[in-house]
Amino acid sequence: MSATAGHDHALDACFLGPYGENDTLLEKLLVEFLRDHVYWRRNFHPEDPPAIATTAAQHPDYLAYEARMRRELHRLSAALKKSVPFHSPRYIGHMASDLLLPGLAAQMLTLPYNPNNVSEDAAPVTVELEVKVGLQLARMLGYPNDPNQDLCALGHLTSGGTVANYQALRLALALKAFPVALRAAQVPEIELPADDWSAFNLASADGIALLTQWQRWLSTLPPAERHHWQARVEAERIEQRGLVDFFTAHSQLSVPLVLAPATAHYSWSKGLKLLGLGRNQLELLPTRSMRLDPEALRATLRQCARERRSVLMCVAVLGGTEYGTIDPVDGVLAARAEARTLGLDFAVHVDAAWGGYLATLFRHADGSLRSRDEVGAEYIQFPTPAVHAAFAALGDTDSATVDPHKLGYLPYGAGAFICRDHRAMALLAERADYVFQAGTPADYMTRYRNIGQFTPEGSKAGAVAAAAYVTHQVLPLHHAQFGRLPRATIRAAEEFYARARRFAIDVADVVAVLVPFVPDSNLVCLALNPVGNRDVRAANVFMSTLQGMLKCEPEQPLQSKEFFGSGTSLRPEMLGPAETDRIFTGLGLDAIDPNQNPEHDHLRILRHTLMNPYLVNRENGMNYIDGYFDFLERSIRALLARSPWHRESGIVAEAGPRPASEGRAA
Ligand SMILES: *Cc1c(COP(=O)(O)O)cnc(C)c1O
Repeated sequence: MSATAGHDHALDACFLGPYGENDTLLEKLLVEFLRDHVYWRRNFHPEDPPAIATTAAQHPDYLAYEARMRRELHRLSAALKKSVPFHSPRYIGHMASDLLLPGLAAQMLTLPYNPNNVSEDAAPVTVELEVKVGLQLARMLGYPNDPNQDLCALGHLTSGGTVANYQALRLALALKAFPVALRAAQVPEIELPADDWSAFNLASADGIALLTQWQRWLSTLPPAERHHWQARVEAERIEQRGLVDFFTAHSQLSVPLVLAPATAHYSWSKGLKLLGLGRNQLELLPTRSMRLDPEALRATLRQCARERRSVLMCVAVLGGTEYGTIDPVDGVLAARAEARTLGLDFAVHVDAAWGGYLATLFRHADGSLRSRDEVGAEYIQFPTPAVHAAFAALGDTDSATVDPHKLGYLPYGAGAFICRDHRAMALLAERADYVFQAGTPADYMTRYRNIGQFTPEGSKAGAVAAAAYVTHQVLPLHHAQFGRLPRATIRAAEEFYARARRFAIDVADVVAVLVPFVPDSNLVCLALNPVGNRDVRAANVFMSTLQGMLKCEPEQPLQSKEFFGSGTSLRPEMLGPAETDRIFTGLGLDAIDPNQNPEHDHLRILRHTLMNPYLVNRENGMNYIDGYFDFLERSIRALLARSPWHRESGIVAEAGPRPASEGRAA
């Protein structure tokens, strides 16, 4: 098995590099494009005299200002030396790594032009790039992406995945409630659903068809009549009336639920609060090994249909934040198909903030899907049939969130929302003039010039769009180009997983080690418990000491740290009894007593994000995965040799097997 053999030279120029290896390349680019920017300024009305005199730089005030600026910049630069070394292969903590040079250079080169992607007026170049980035991501996900066709996706950038998820909620609600407004306005000549319940439960495609029909009908009317009908429908829309008024008027309808797996990111909770639906409407579904359980989803949907509880959306997570697990997107779509037969319909959104770019591994250059065998040829077990099926199903979902600032290796401030059918976006427009566009054959690019009409944000950095666009041009989003990066990370994760299992044997004399969930992608967690300890509190004290060694501490020099990891915790209420039992028994821990202090209701574990492409280097012989496990073994042995380690925890008990009730009162 040589899944990790071979050095990919195409990756050599991708990043500044752990050692700053590509410094001259980046420097050349920056100087070249800074000069280019200066020439651009000078060539804009060169007949104007310089506003700042050439002698200005000799003035004492100028010099004093420059000195102050330098002093503060030096202070900043010095302070930033305490930053987290995301670029280093010794950093395997959170979802951050080095930055792709094309994106970093594009962003830096665009900054002095300062385009504002709220609209084309303020960003004649970069708004178009943003819309194109949306199409690039749509293609990666398998959404229709030909803007000359009626059915085409639309994507736009957001500050991050949180806002993209919020946009998904907003769009789903707008589309769900619109047919209800059409009915309330008693719009003639369009065939409308028979009652509010069925209007609120149209399939997305049917809702969009209704919207298009309505726009077309409006465009045939004389202006006065058109305004009349437009105003009448606007007055009935949920965005106009607000949730309270809308649901009071339509008493047949309940405030809809959002279904998401228990592993869902907390941005979903934020989104429900922000939209005013309330966190009570977020129903977290049980998972199986941290993947959404389609059976549980089906049961919930059947119950909703029976009780006539509406559902706004079901979220599938593609790459969970804690474990990198991939939800069965295909299973969620199948469950929706079943719910449809019961009269219940809703949007399916994929939260691929983390795993979105893994979709490049599943795409040929022509955009078609790679078979599981084709993808799998390069790995030990990736992708499992379930993972392949999830990625294959992406194209049939309604919308997705992808974070270019995570596995896209771009600077922060880059999330993306992509919906499968752009026509629904008309419902988010801040001004209702969208309806007139239906009659005029406004082309796709023209329509989205004022992208700020449709986005939660107003002013937004055009430099981010430039960074994403240039990156996707240099590394097109299919397996043979961009895919090389996630390939390196999945291979590293497979090596890490195999190494973790050897590690478990090597240290079995002192500590029980378990990878709680077989990884689907490039996140691997480790649960540890000192041999003989049965108390979860003592295990947590041990883990937090270990975690302390693996994180940045502002008061300590960075160089004193060998490796960086991160942590998370396992909660029995999230795991369910069977999984909890499997993991706790595997570690030799007693079950958590539910009557205990709620602060002790979880088990701390280590979490490793393997996104650095230089973890294993066959050329210089460096293997940071081996290095990490050696470090972990050294640390654990040293920690357990301190006698007795758990006294530091304040838990006064000797290590060694003992009755479950002992040592709990401390
Ligand atoms: C990171 C993440 C988010 C939130 O994205 P931000 O860019 O941090 O706002 C949402 N969902 C998932 C699954 C994530 O991993």
